[in-house]
Amino acid sequence: MFITEIFKSVQGEGTRAGLPCVFVRLTGCNLRCTWCDTAYAFHGGKKMSFEEVLARVDELCGRAADQPGGTAAVPLVEMTGGEPLLQEEIYPLAEALLERGYTAMIETSGERFVGRLPREVIKIVDVKCPDSGAADTFDPRNLQALDAKDEIKFVLSTRRDYEFAREFTCEQNLATRVRQVLFSPTFADPNGKWPGLEPSTLVEWILADGLPVRLGLQLHKFIWHPATQGV
Ligand code: SF4
Repeated sequence: MFITEIFKSVQGEGTRAGLPCVFVRLTGCNLRCTWCDTAYAFHGGKKMSFEEVLARVDELCGRAADQPGGTAAVPLVEMTGGEPLLQEEIYPLAEALLERGYTAMIETSGERFVGRLPREVIKIVDVKCPDSGAADTFDPRNLQALDAKDEIKFVLSTRRDYEFAREFTCEQNLATRVRQVLFSPTFADPNGKWPGLEPSTLVEWILADGLPVRLGLQLHKFIWHPATQGV
């Protein structure tokens, strides 16, 4: 499999934000979101077997060879990208992480079907909004494949995005399907390629409409410089 980076940090998003976590960033994505902050993962990458990936994860998590992952210093592992579901080896990797006792998460664009992954993998699934540049890419079968441990995320850059996310959330009754619905404002590109959406503006909209969603901020962009990789 092709890997852009494997690193240890704190989880930056969602309901597990702030928890120590090891990230496996797979190379390649078939979408091109206008505000993508991981375009460096589109190409290249290092070819690794999934056993080599596991060995590096064990090392970073502080898991001894004879220990289950649940007793590792860092028991949480996230598979991300790019789009991690484009590479077939993601399936044995996910199985192996679970067998070793890790809490395994995946962050995906929502364009690929997540139902082939083991149920136990925590799925953070995007629904792309109109101004993302990847509108109408969500695979509707994903709604049936998610449950009470999973999260659905909308990244919002405009009022039009917000209205789309609001309608989708209400029409599909998302709050009853998953652990959390996340509304995340885009963070302005540090090189000026795209503007951000002010979190305070998004909060005003959410409160005015009384939506059952959680504001999602990317913690790592407040801790480190927003352009920093590997954090
Ligand atoms: S799906 Fe994710 S990695 Fe792919 S272009 Fe969009 S934001 Fe970037």
